[in-house]
Amino acid sequence: MTGAEFAALRRAAGLSQSDLARRAGCGRHAVSYWEGKRLLDRNAWAVKRMAEALGLPVFVAPIRARAGWGERLDAETEARAAAFAAQVQRWEAARAEMASRRRVRCGALTRKGASCRALSVPGKRRCKFHGGMSTGARTPEGIERIRDAQRRRWARWRAERGHPDKDQ
Ligand SMILES: [Zn+2]
Repeated sequence: MTGAEFAALRRAAGLSQSDLARRAGCGRHAVSYWEGKRLLDRNAWAVKRMAEALGLPVFVAPIRARAGWGERLDAETEARAAAFAAQVQRWEAARAEMASRRRVRCGALTRKGASCRALSVPGKRRCKFHGGMSTGARTPEGIERIRDAQRRRWARWRAERGHPDKDQ
């Protein structure tokens, strides 16, 4: 779940950031911090507290696990957990859908030394002339060539930064 989605749920519950902070027993800044984040870390202490305070079974799995320890979930919590899990799934599908359509400025280095201004192939970072259509290496030789190039690249990187060479 994104911070913005979480903020929308908080507002839907009619709570200000301070209200939620008070209920969750965390600082107001923790609320604004997480709402500003791209993604909520569901293992973070404050996130768990906030989710609980909102009555959100963000942690559907932990709730189920707890029920497994002998505590039965009441039907209402179970239904809420299922509804929320479905909502999260819809959000994730929508985000994946958007990512697969996104077109960005290609930016590859051109022969003139400028960066390419063409739009990328949807869902890719490069335009069709700069590898956007590429599906990557396919043949064993091609795959080995890429591996080799990467090994050399990182060896150079380690040498430049004075890291000890891992392969020796
Ligand atoms: Zn390009």
